[in-house]
Amino acid sequence: MKERSSVDKSCAVLTGIFVALSLWFATPNLGAGSPQDVQSLFDQATQSLDQDNFAAAAAGYDKCLAADPHMLKALFNRAIANEMVDRAKAIADWKSFAAAAGNDPEMKYLAARALARVQILEGLPALPPGLEPSHYVAADGDYYRLVAPDSDGLQWRHFPIKVYLGSAPEVKWQYGARGAFDIWRNVIPLQLVANERQADIRIGWQESAMGEGHAGEELDWVRFERVGDQLTGRRVAVITADLSRSWSKDEMRAIMLHEFGHALGIKGHSDSKKDIMYFQMQEKYRRIPVPMPVTQLYWKSLVKNPSPRDINTLIRLYNSAGYIAPLH
Ligand SMILES: [Zn+2]
Repeated sequence: MKERSSVDKSCAVLTGIFVALSLWFATPNLGAGSPQDVQSLFDQATQSLDQDNFAAAAAGYDKCLAADPHMLKALFNRAIANEMVDRAKAIADWKSFAAAAGNDPEMKYLAARALARVQILEGLPALPPGLEPSHYVAADGDYYRLVAPDSDGLQWRHFPIKVYLGSAPEVKWQYGARGAFDIWRNVIPLQLVANERQADIRIGWQESAMGEGHAGEELDWVRFERVGDQLTGRRVAVITADLSRSWSKDEMRAIMLHEFGHALGIKGHSDSKKDIMYFQMQEKYRRIPVPMPVTQLYWKSLVKNPSPRDINTLIRLYNSAGYIAPLH
């Protein structure tokens, strides 16, 4: 009896080990397919996306979709992540999402948004290396969400961007402006032009007319040109500075760094003093008839370079089809 019992026990133990091993080996197929496991993969990936860790998020959603190819919210969120990883994959994801969601009345609105993003992404230019998603450093973060509403769609579509620096009334200011140009040129391709009519961005040294406490402003105009019977308009960003004050070279460089940031497509402000796009005290907006909002600032900053957050924000603005909230 005793012996048999012992044999039974070892059989039971062996069976137990066998079952455990079978489960172990089956896990990748059965386990990952269970709804709880897919949901936890999804939650993990979404956490990465919320932390702007786009590559990790995309890889996480890959796993979700391998386990459950019909998980539409994973496809939707992977498309968002892929805009900051690989534009071609993002376009493919949005198209797949629109195709899969288009027949579902509750998803129709999202399907339309997906198709709108495909159009935007397909219209974006090939980007210079410095603006490619691989240069986004997730650990540094960004302030994209603060500036996206004012900035989306206002990025340049051709490179290099042509800049006319003009002639400053003081030599030290000329050096300051040139310094700002040289610093931004390390981030995004800029080209000096000698004729202001060719410029995408120009400094209007003679056009200073701003209120007390404003160091500089950046304003987008539309320049209309007649070619034969055709009237065409193109955007020109004009930077001005308050010339009534005795700025040093370094101060002028900091003013110009900030205003160039606006001109290059960051139309709002950072919330950190370490960023060149921080605004010190107060921001005023007013609208003028033809083009876009005027941005004025009360300013005092001597940040010497665009910060990693400034650069991350710029990269995101140039790669994203606009801010969109992930699904949860
Ligand atoms: Zn500003």
